[in-house]
Amino acid sequence: MSDLLERLRGRGWRMTSQRRVVAEVLDGDHVHLTADEVHARAVERLPEISRATVYNALGELVSLGEVIEVSTDGRAKRYDPNAHHPHQHLVCSSCGTVRDVHPTGNPLADLPATERFGFTVAAVEVTYRGLCPSCA
Ligand SMILES: [Zn+2]
Ligand SMILES: [Zn+2]
Repeated sequence: MSDLLERLRGRGWRMTSQRRVVAEVLDGDHVHLTADEVHARAVERLPEISRATVYNALGELVSLGEVIEVSTDGRAKRYDPNAHHPHQHLVCSSCGTVRDVHPTGNPLADLPATERFGFTVAAVEVTYRGLCPSCA
């Protein structure tokens, strides 16, 4: 599902070796890493990569709209490359595993007009919580 590297190439994102490693670490399905996790994985591939470089690249990817920031647990923000396919999150309350899920209804449409208080509602975030098979 995720095609982050292709999308970035298509947009002409300046791809230095360091920035490429950040994009590679984030590419994939069900990827929701904290900035520190991205840094730790990037260091495995490119030992000299600094935390600041990783944070800067993450900030750029978010402002480009190619990566979304997700807060699922009220702690560190997580970075999600699945930015072009609207989805919600299923989170294990024990180990923190996060899965991308696609509810069959439309959560945005499910909010009754009487509870919109005149707002123009543009987006919705739903977090499903429970225990994953390993923790259950
Ligand atoms: Zn779990
Ligand atoms: Zn996600």
